[in-house]
Amino acid sequence: MPISCSTNLKIRPDHLDRQALIYVRQSTMIQVRENTGSTARQYDLVPRALNLGWPTEHIRVIDQDQGHSGASAAGRDGFQFLVAEVSLKHAGAVLCLEASRLARSCSDWYRLLEICALTDTLVIDEEGVYDPGQYNDRLLLGFKGTMSEAELHWLRQRLLGGKQAKAEQGQLRFRLPVGLVYDPTGKVVIDPDEEVHQAVRLAFDLFVQRGSALAVVTHFAKHRLRFPTRGWGGSHDGELIWGRLSSGRILSMLHNPLYAGAYVYGRTITRSQLLPGEAPRIKGRTRQIKPGDWPVMLLDAHPGYISWEQFRRNQQKLDDNRTWRTAERRGAVREGAALLQGIVLCGWCGRRMSVRYVQGGRAPVYECNQAHTQHAARTCQTMRGDGIDAAVARSFLAAIEPAQLEVSLAALGRIEERARQIERQWQLRKERSQYEADLARRRFLAVEPENRLVARSLEREWNDKLSAIEQLEREHAALPKTAMRLASPEDRRRILALAQDLPKVWHSATTTNTERKQLLRLLIKDVTLTRREKIITIAIRWQTDALTTLELPRLRKSWEARQTDARAVELIRQLAPSHTDQQIARCLNEAGLSAGLGGAFSQRKVGFIRWAYGIATACPERPKGCPSGQRGDERYSAQKAAELLNVHVSTISEWCKSGRLDSISTAPASPRWIKLTPEIIAELRRPVRRRHHRHCVSEA
Ligand SMILES: [Zn+2]
Repeated sequence: MPISCSTNLKIRPDHLDRQALIYVRQSTMIQVRENTGSTARQYDLVPRALNLGWPTEHIRVIDQDQGHSGASAAGRDGFQFLVAEVSLKHAGAVLCLEASRLARSCSDWYRLLEICALTDTLVIDEEGVYDPGQYNDRLLLGFKGTMSEAELHWLRQRLLGGKQAKAEQGQLRFRLPVGLVYDPTGKVVIDPDEEVHQAVRLAFDLFVQRGSALAVVTHFAKHRLRFPTRGWGGSHDGELIWGRLSSGRILSMLHNPLYAGAYVYGRTITRSQLLPGEAPRIKGRTRQIKPGDWPVMLLDAHPGYISWEQFRRNQQKLDDNRTWRTAERRGAVREGAALLQGIVLCGWCGRRMSVRYVQGGRAPVYECNQAHTQHAARTCQTMRGDGIDAAVARSFLAAIEPAQLEVSLAALGRIEERARQIERQWQLRKERSQYEADLARRRFLAVEPENRLVARSLEREWNDKLSAIEQLEREHAALPKTAMRLASPEDRRRILALAQDLPKVWHSATTTNTERKQLLRLLIKDVTLTRREKIITIAIRWQTDALTTLELPRLRKSWEARQTDARAVELIRQLAPSHTDQQIARCLNEAGLSAGLGGAFSQRKVGFIRWAYGIATACPERPKGCPSGQRGDERYSAQKAAELLNVHVSTISEWCKSGRLDSISTAPASPRWIKLTPEIIAELRRPVRRRHHRHCVSEA
């Protein structure tokens, strides 16, 4: 091997005293298996090290990274061992075929160079010997590292670009979901196996009818229906495997646009990320991309099971069914009694209102508490739900009346259709097992009788198939046939008769809350509730976007229920100046008003209300109740007037009779109310001293 003079100068005896580490790596196991030439070239570095002067015992080959990409140091134990050895100054030189073998990432590469420079370790490749401590060598090595990283990037770009270009023409092939297959010319077609495409069709039909993925799974489980999977790649390519339908399967089907005849590429994106832990490793994380951002989408590219519009509706429905982030979604129908669960909106803030149950779960309460639960703000509004539910139900029943016959007929049609589909699935299943048994029989008959070993195993297979048919027959017979029974003509008449009276069905005890809610959602999109002081406004938005507004008197709170009628309080306020409590009570009872807790008004009750509302009284017989002696129209009681004018009450009475004072009274015997102005008081008031003097005299 030609080694220049300057190269030899770089290798000093102290380098030769340390180890020569030879790093061997290929990116994938396939390369290791098939590209043996490169591996051999890498191992040829051992004679090269010997040639450069390292003794055999100092040469060490690091090859535990076979099959690992050089894109990162993570997961490459050999590379990390190498770095450790270099750091500990155990290595005199690191040998590799080219820089890219050591690291395809610049950060790993520069780290290694840095450590090599610090520990005076040489880097040797096919072309020369470099001392990272020397600036020129380091510059060259730096370039090599950068180029190696760039090479990886370009390689990937070219591959991805090719893939993308192929996908844009709808020609990139990938694993198809069950129910769709590639025909011999490479076109996507509906699976020709009738049992398979019937099962897929049934799953989609059921979702449209039931509106929930879980309901589809339940239906399949209940009727013991099986769902197919087709093997992909390997020895089981194209093989059918029948099993139970899981919710993950049905969800991925519903989200898959291929079933709607669209060719889509790039529904997910995978990014590498470092997983923390004892030994950090890099792992790809796959994320879904929103339908609007799919890089390639070709509509009507192949036959599908559903239309594109139906696919969009299914997505919307699945989105609605989600229970998290309920602000924007209806959520699936639940078992609770609250009729408007999931479709009720707050009229103040527009958020979706939640349902809570009180009185042992009997009475629903609609509550707008999202702002409260999320950022401790005030609860927007809360209201009892039973009255609201009843009002909406009335409105719903009224709306459905003209259409009720069609609705029920359609429902009946759906039930029949479903029953037929189930029966068809079972027939296909039986046909398939019969076919398999026939095949096994033919195979058994075709074999030479001398070939006993083969004949025996074929006979066993035939027997197995026959018992499988029997098993299937038994399972089918054991299934409840309710669905079929419903479709009989007399049942049809019965259902039709029942449908005439939808309100009866609605109120029937056998109708579940879930069914009522599903019925309601057929016509009603959402309901907005707004609570004002006295009324609750219920705005019903129908599926047609028409709007109906109802008003409901707000249910009174317990303290409000005990509160005196505002009209009674007003009347008391009017009568108080001129009437006694007893008279007021009589007036209130005559007006047909009742006290807060029910029952007639009494003198005591009126007295309490006056006290509670601070209404001045007109009762001279109870001066404590009227300390000022002056009533609302500024007239004074006789007692007070006497006090103010410094005369005896009898004098006041005389003055009133003679007309010297302006007085009124409601009845001949009832108290007088005297008008006093500052001028009248000044004119008629007796001097205090004289009265005092008279007192003294009388006392004496
Ligand atoms: Zn609100």
